[in-house]
Amino acid sequence: MIVKSKFKCKCCGINKIDYHVIELCKLIEYTVGFPLNVNSGYRCRKHNTAIGGAKNSQHLKGFAADLSGKDLSKLKEVCKNLWDHKEIGGYGIYRTFVHVDMGKHRTWKG
Ligand SMILES: [Zn+2]
Ligand SMILES: [Zn+2]
Repeated sequence: MIVKSKFKCKCCGINKIDYHVIELCKLIEYTVGFPLNVNSGYRCRKHNTAIGGAKNSQHLKGFAADLSGKDLSKLKEVCKNLWDHKEIGGYGIYRTFVHVDMGKHRTWKG
């Protein structure tokens, strides 16, 4: 289930996640109808570098989340639809999770 504490930095526990990201993830969770995991939310600079995140990653601003759940196909379908309706800024599609953020409207495959 989506709660704010799940978005904290994995290395230091600092949580600068933006309120809008939490609301977006709650909407996604409600729409898919099953609980979501937050694989990555806010990242401090040190952690972002450690895991090889992009230098200007939206995770650093607290504007992004990587999500997964029991039905990844459904999750991807719902995110694509929300992205089409511009509810999602950046939408990254990966094998085991999806990345959603509040940045510019764009999409990519990882
Ligand atoms: Zn950290
Ligand atoms: Zn991400």
